Amino acid sequence: METPITFLGNEFGNRLYVKREELYPVALGGNKARIAKPFFDEIDAGGYDSVVTYGSAGSNLCRVVAAMAAMQGLKCVAVMHGEDNDISLNLRLVRASGASTVFCPVGEVADTIEAVTEELRRKGRRPFFIPGGGYGAIGAQAYVDCFDEIDAYERRSGVAFDHIFLPSGTGTTQAGLVCGKLLRNATCEIVGISIARERSRGESAVLECVRAYLAAKGIAVPDGRMEKAVVFEDAYTGGGYGCGDYAATTAYVYRKYALPLDNTYTGKAFYGMGQYLKERRTVERNVLFINTGGVPSFFEDLIRGNNRSEGITAG
Ligand SMILES: *Cc1c(COP(=O)(O)O)cnc(C)c1O
Repeated sequence: METPITFLGNEFGNRLYVKREELYPVALGGNKARIAKPFFDEIDAGGYDSVVTYGSAGSNLCRVVAAMAAMQGLKCVAVMHGEDNDISLNLRLVRASGASTVFCPVGEVADTIEAVTEELRRKGRRPFFIPGGGYGAIGAQAYVDCFDEIDAYERRSGVAFDHIFLPSGTGTTQAGLVCGKLLRNATCEIVGISIARERSRGESAVLECVRAYLAAKGIAVPDGRMEKAVVFEDAYTGGGYGCGDYAATTAYVYRKYALPLDNTYTGKAFYGMGQYLKERRTVERNVLFINTGGVPSFFEDLIRGNNRSEGITAG
């Protein structure tokens, strides 16, 4: 399902457009909704009756998987690391969809997933597992499709994007976009702004996912081209996952463009994009920001008072 691209305005000396992934029309949208879709196509085709997935207690993936499972009448178990008392809006939405939740320490994730899946099998069920972030060839397909939407927009509008920015976590979204770029021989620079990982780890995660997708499709790309296409920028993580304060950015963007950004992913990446462009003195380019979602976290930030601004500018 196609999401719109809208022109925001002139920011950081460039013409800034946004791919509105937060409007993907399932369960408050976001990249995880788009990524979950091809998994549910597999689930349909394979006759599975249960879904197991994994994420943090505030996971956007668990929210959309629980919602899609509920719509199809499938049983859903979300394995989460973190605390049961961390009542994030995403966790409330997982429960609103009727999914069950199993909490475990971060070191016991693999064992817990195994135990939950075994238990379902023992009860005669056929569980399908969706990995954290939807990482892998299936999830990457979703963002190959997204790249094709961007490509179609460029043809329709005559606007060619010089740079595409996105928040990059597990690397699934970035890998899909990079595969789309390689398949279409596009020249735009795709920059993943790391939301947590250091460059070496993040970059190899994206590359591994790119290779998995191309291998699954039987497409050969010379190694050098692949590596060149993966730009994973770790200078703006703010010290790690969920760390850093992007209230000035999120408040400015909401006030000026009525676009919801969250502190963990999209606000951090929007800020990082600005720094990246300024540090390289990149101006007068067409820049596309992939707004990957996180709408429940946007509301959470509001409730916690993280989103106030008085005369703040993007700086
Ligand atoms: C998961 C997530 C990301 C990161 O996507 P990856 O494919 O894991 O790199 C970015 N933004 C939001 C809102 C997310 O939920």
